[in-house]
Amino acid sequence: MDLAERLAALDARIADAARAAGRDPAALTRIVVTKFHPAELVTSLHALGVRDVGENRQQELTAKRASLPPLDGLVWHFIGQAQTKKARAIRAAASVVHSVDRDRLADALHAADPDAAIPLDVLLQVNLTDDPLRGGAAPDAMAPLAEHIAAQCSSLRVRGVMAVAPLSEAPAEAFARLAAAADAVRGVVPDAGWISAGMSGDFAEAIAAGATHLRIGTAITGPRAVPG
Ligand SMILES: *Cc1c(COP(=O)(O)O)cnc(C)c1O
Repeated sequence: MDLAERLAALDARIADAARAAGRDPAALTRIVVTKFHPAELVTSLHALGVRDVGENRQQELTAKRASLPPLDGLVWHFIGQAQTKKARAIRAAASVVHSVDRDRLADALHAADPDAAIPLDVLLQVNLTDDPLRGGAAPDAMAPLAEHIAAQCSSLRVRGVMAVAPLSEAPAEAFARLAAAADAVRGVVPDAGWISAGMSGDFAEAIAAGATHLRIGTAITGPRAVPG
């Protein structure tokens, strides 16, 4: 299969999973994760109609954006763990940051452009494991983090939550905890309805659990040169 065929096949599987869960496929945003692939892949995807792409490393994101001409309507999502000192570069390159997991990172993203005309969309990353190295904050940290951003970071807009399913557990169980964390954030920011969850191997479970934004890499792009 070539890229267009893999994209179409994956979109058909997403639509099937949505219908099986009683959900409208048109309400889902499919983000194509292009990390470790050359910038030309983004151009090819854009020509096929893709308007949302995801990168997980700031340097790669910045370099790809710099090397490409403006692509009409393309939205760059930053989905990786973010160092506070990289906040300015992330904000300059991304329209959505999925991985806000602490006050200091939110503060740094806000300080990078405090008077921005268009706020930066942010998702609060939930760590669904006990391993702090996996990124994200504990589910019970979500409401306080949302409160901090709403009160202190006027140039950020909290849109919802994001998580990666643990390897050690059935994804459906983990995504149920994510849905509960999403409820907690909505208790603070009522219109923060986005749930970013679901990768190549678990998007059907994520859709069943209420995901609104899917982050799909290898099922569309093929294998990456470097695993990650
Ligand atoms: C790489 C990555 C994905 C995509 O993973 P695939 O298994 O290739 O679909 C999704 N989310 C995050 C945070 C990633 O780093």
